[in-house]
Amino acid sequence: MRYAVGIDLGGTFVKFALVSESGDILFDDKLSIGGKAQRDDILSTVSKAIGLVIQKAGELNVKVVGIGFGSPGIVDGGIVHGGADNLNGWEKINISERYSQEFGLPVLVDNDANVMGLGEAVYGAAKGCTDAIFLTVGTGIGGAIIANGKLYGGYKNRGTEMGHVTIDHKGIACNCGGRGCLEAYASTNALIGQYALRSGKNESEINGHYIVEKFQEGEVAAVECMQEHTDYLGHAIAGFINTFSPQKVIIGGGISEAGQFYIDMIKKSAFSYVMPDCSRFTDVVGATLGNSAGCLGAASLIFKNCN
Ligand SMILES: [Zn+2]
Repeated sequence: MRYAVGIDLGGTFVKFALVSESGDILFDDKLSIGGKAQRDDILSTVSKAIGLVIQKAGELNVKVVGIGFGSPGIVDGGIVHGGADNLNGWEKINISERYSQEFGLPVLVDNDANVMGLGEAVYGAAKGCTDAIFLTVGTGIGGAIIANGKLYGGYKNRGTEMGHVTIDHKGIACNCGGRGCLEAYASTNALIGQYALRSGKNESEINGHYIVEKFQEGEVAAVECMQEHTDYLGHAIAGFINTFSPQKVIIGGGISEAGQFYIDMIKKSAFSYVMPDCSRFTDVVGATLGNSAGCLGAASLIFKNCN
């Protein structure tokens, strides 16, 4: 059995795990990254995290074959080029080189949403599938495409920004500088904004959980907002299904854990818009790995690509 270090770097924590090729997590933990942390602080926190996993592997007497790494931003060739807005100075860093020199192991890096999607495809909701689309619904909307069993990222891995497909060509402005993007309509933030508007409640008192609760109580504003939210997602997903004909569309992110009803609403919407021939072999499902998806997917980069 092979083992790898899985690193999942986020805006507030670096999560890390010792993962077996069969997808068991032998050890995991996280270290916090202060909001003021600069590039060098983040790099040394990650070093510490990798060191802890390797130490643990030594104690357990298992051999680590590599380090898989999920990072925010645009990642290609082991380098984070930029676009990680919530990490200070996190750009133009050769992650692969730095940590392979430090630890003497191969280091493979990809975008954080991509490795989460890969984790779900290899060990989670789309286990056994070769073709899947992953969407994570949170403050923004991220995603990944798994095609023929591999992550597809476009030329130089700069694509698959699934939250930034247009669903309204004259629509509201998006954080990306575009207009009418899925993210601007269907992120949890957008849902909260819409609900605040319709219910007259203060945005600071609302979160996704609260809206789900009100939805289940049958409150009109919450029901309308959730229907609209899932319909936006369904529209975009129908387009993804028509384009990629995946076996599974996986919905992740905090709100996806609201319950099966949430996935069912999205699925119903998506299937009312798809081309039947494109969707014949497609199902829409909830993510199953939760917070572990990133570390598992990062480790699977190593298992898939290293000997
Ligand atoms: Zn956008």
